[in-house]
Amino acid sequence: MIKKNYDAVVIGAGPAGSSFAYYAVGKGLSVLMVEKQREVAHTILCAEGVSSEFLSLVRKGDGHQRDYIATYIYGGILTYDGKPYVETRLTEPGGAILERKIFDRYLAERAVRKGADILVNTRFVSAERKGNDIEVHLKRGNNDEIVLTSLLVDASGPTSVVAKALGLFEEYDKDTDFYTYQVYGYCDGIKDNYLYFSIGENIAPKGYAWIFPKGGGFANIGVGIPGKRDGLDVYLNNFLEKHCKTFKILGVIHGVVPTGFHKRRLYDDNVLILGDAARLADPLTGGGIANAYISGLVAAEVASQAKKEGKFDVSVLKGYERRLKKWIMHDYMVTLFAKMFYVSLSREELQSFMESIGESLGHMEINPPINPVSMLLKVLKKDPLFLFRFGRKGIYAAKETLRQFI
Ligand SMILES: Cc1cc2nc3c(=O)[nH]c(=O)nc-3n(C[C@H](O)[C@H](O)[C@H](O)COP(=O)(O)OP(=O)(O)OC[C@H]3O[C@@H](n4cnc5c(N)ncnc54)[C@H](O)[C@@H]3O)c2cc1C
Repeated sequence: MIKKNYDAVVIGAGPAGSSFAYYAVGKGLSVLMVEKQREVAHTILCAEGVSSEFLSLVRKGDGHQRDYIATYIYGGILTYDGKPYVETRLTEPGGAILERKIFDRYLAERAVRKGADILVNTRFVSAERKGNDIEVHLKRGNNDEIVLTSLLVDASGPTSVVAKALGLFEEYDKDTDFYTYQVYGYCDGIKDNYLYFSIGENIAPKGYAWIFPKGGGFANIGVGIPGKRDGLDVYLNNFLEKHCKTFKILGVIHGVVPTGFHKRRLYDDNVLILGDAARLADPLTGGGIANAYISGLVAAEVASQAKKEGKFDVSVLKGYERRLKKWIMHDYMVTLFAKMFYVSLSREELQSFMESIGESLGHMEINPPINPVSMLLKVLKKDPLFLFRFGRKGIYAAKETLRQFI
């Protein structure tokens, strides 16, 4: 049976899908959100860290809030092979660790209150183009349902179910995916309000380990390594052994964070691809909440334009990719460069790099946003041969970054 016709149907009620629904309804579109879980945010794969800048964007113009902050962040420590090298202290919070279950539910509630419809316990199965519209086949519990829409939005997370069903995306890209293993739990003595990052061949080769505190001794502790799925549990257990032998585990997650959106097209006739489904996460850290949310906002603006012009084809929808790149591309390229630089360093080079920045930056009291250029100048002042030692790798990383965009 064909159900109601919507301007847009969005698959997935994560940050990308809920952000899209909220802003699109605000612009006069009728929107249906479809979520396969029995309740929104039932299962979350995340360390829950976000920046203050992102929180300001979410809070803009919405009076109704929920208490989704676990703790604010006032600094961070970077260690290499267990030894602290750089420590920053902020006078204002640089970000926060969320209670993502509350946060994601809040974003979905906000969209529904604005006027979006939602179906939970409902899975996207397939889609078929019908003239100027698209027919979406869903499985709601055991029942089949069909919905007709002008725009189908893929916000299904790393599985990119719509993009794959329509043949727009292939399987994962091993080179750009970030594999993670994380536990949530309690350890007496974990420092509240501080992020803890650790790198090194024995910690997480070419990746990093993290402790993201949630207050009162609770924390998300995990490891993430690009392109490597095996052995993550061994790295995490070693890390826990070193930092908190008595860690009491309340939850375990494995997850993949897909990056590399710049290698793909994020639109087609009647289709937009958002958030993790579009592989928008930060290539260095794997953080993807902010870009997922921003992609929802930008997609809603373009969908509104498409409705006004009465056509949801590529001639209008390509504007989504253009506007999104304008917003996020600069930061994405900087972190892609940083990743390329980091993974190109040998063990000895990484040690020498850490010693140099450790001596120059050591303990810093700074206010966000952190400016990489002024940090580099500080390093050069203390270590004038820094560029001589690492310039070649920097040029390599810059070339690799640019090559990916040509
Ligand atoms: C271990 C780990 C730690 C992380 N830590 C951070 C961090 O600290 N900070 C940060 O910014 N990012 C972090 N991330 C990344 C972040 O979680 C994601 O980038 C973010 O959730 C992307 O949001 P999204 O809305 O695109 O996708 P998701 O949050 O994955 O939402 C997709 C939704 O689609 C639904 N869905 C999927 N398939 C279907 C279907 N067939 N039918 C209907 N619904 C469907 C899913 O149930 C889900 O609710 C981390 C990821 C991992 C794995």
